[in-house]
Amino acid sequence: MKVIAVVGNGIAGSEAAEAARRVDRDARIVLLTKEPYPLYSACVLADYVADRIPLERVVLKRAADFGRDRIDLLLSKQVVEWSADARMLRFEDGELPYDRLVIATGSRPVVPNLPGFNKEGVVALKTLADAEQLRAARGGAAVVVGTGPVGIEAAIALSRRGWKVTLVELLDRVLPRLFDEPLALILKKRLEDHGIDVFLGERVLEVQGDARVEAVRTDRRILTAETVVLVIGMRPELSLVDRKQVAFGDSGGVRVDRHMQTSREGVWACGDCTESEDLVTGRIGLHMLWHNARLQGRIAGANAAGAHRQYPGSLNVTTVNIFDETAASVGFLASELTGNEMTVLHKKAPWGELRLILKDQCLVGVQALGSTDRLGGLVTMMMQGRNLRKVLLKKPAVSEGPAGWILRGLQRDLRRLMDAD
Ligand SMILES: Cc1cc2nc3c(=O)[nH]c(=O)nc-3n(C[C@H](O)[C@H](O)[C@H](O)COP(=O)(O)OP(=O)(O)OC[C@H]3O[C@@H](n4cnc5c(N)ncnc54)[C@H](O)[C@@H]3O)c2cc1C
Repeated sequence: MKVIAVVGNGIAGSEAAEAARRVDRDARIVLLTKEPYPLYSACVLADYVADRIPLERVVLKRAADFGRDRIDLLLSKQVVEWSADARMLRFEDGELPYDRLVIATGSRPVVPNLPGFNKEGVVALKTLADAEQLRAARGGAAVVVGTGPVGIEAAIALSRRGWKVTLVELLDRVLPRLFDEPLALILKKRLEDHGIDVFLGERVLEVQGDARVEAVRTDRRILTAETVVLVIGMRPELSLVDRKQVAFGDSGGVRVDRHMQTSREGVWACGDCTESEDLVTGRIGLHMLWHNARLQGRIAGANAAGAHRQYPGSLNVTTVNIFDETAASVGFLASELTGNEMTVLHKKAPWGELRLILKDQCLVGVQALGSTDRLGGLVTMMMQGRNLRKVLLKKPAVSEGPAGWILRGLQRDLRRLMDAD
């Protein structure tokens, strides 16, 4: 019997196993994971830490769900060696020969090589075990290092638990990869209004304490804390894989083709451990978002079972909830672009703020604060013909309701801008 092995049971691996089953009713499908849990959503871990949702809302699938699809789910089974030539996976207490392999090993938090970062009380927010650790912590004061979306969500969650929270960021604004200065400043203010201290342009140098965290030393001050949440970034988790087995891209992720196939015959890869093309910017890189991982998993799994499906590319719309307000970003930031060909249109409205980045008359970036209703239409604009003049000749993509007038208003502004050239 043909064996399809999937390593990693995050959303990518889980979807890959299911998709493989839909294509091949007879193969043996084995899903191996070092996690003790079947499948949960990382996206809602912060809400679980904040006690806003119960564990049942975090868990997405149970072992029985995999059993129904005749997928052999092997929990707490870390694959420690992959013999690509022999088509063999090894774990602590056994081995698995396979015919087809899907690598879905996801990502791991970046840990700086600085003193004290291995102390008790330093946590990343990546797994359900991390969330349980934060829920079980005594409380008091926490320092969150890094102001990406996960750092912001972690800070808000702990603040909601009644902790005193300080955010420390090396760069000069919060959410630096998602928002330019004007909106980032507003978001920082929102955090501060809720009692979170935000220190920007500050470098963390050391975690102090004996066995446990007692304080964090930065290049400007010492912050007392019982807990440090370290969220300075994610890297592909590829300790199992080396560059002789499959090709890696410049981003450090596994390189795959449109079919999610790696450079090695019989091996596919998907999710956070792979690189892909951004549908809006065209950039090849790591696009670590849930819906990208899910679609990549479906395609990799189906193709490993014999289908010929193509991945269209990654859609990187990132949304962050800052207390009760939503902020979203897609495409290029103005700070990433230079030159006369770049224009910024910043619109304030009763529902929030919108910042549009145009390059060579094409919409290449959108940042929104408040309502995100109009994002869909704007993303379509970005992906369509690319020349905004063409987009403007069309009828508004959203023709009725409040989103309709907002979009029409935007098109009016954009027309004025184009006509001014
Ligand atoms: C706190 C948090 C919040 C997030 N919020 C959002 C959000 O709001 N929206 C959004 O789009 N994205 C969000 N993301 C990102 C999103 O969760 C990820 O992009 C997605 O979960 C990636 O799925 P994956 O299956 O590729 O990887 P992972 O979820 O990392 O899963 C990989 C699995 O492989 C296992 N594994 C690794 N190596 C081995 C091995 N050698 N042997 C066996 N098993 C192994 C790991 O234990 C893990 O279970 C968030 C991420 C985090 C951490």
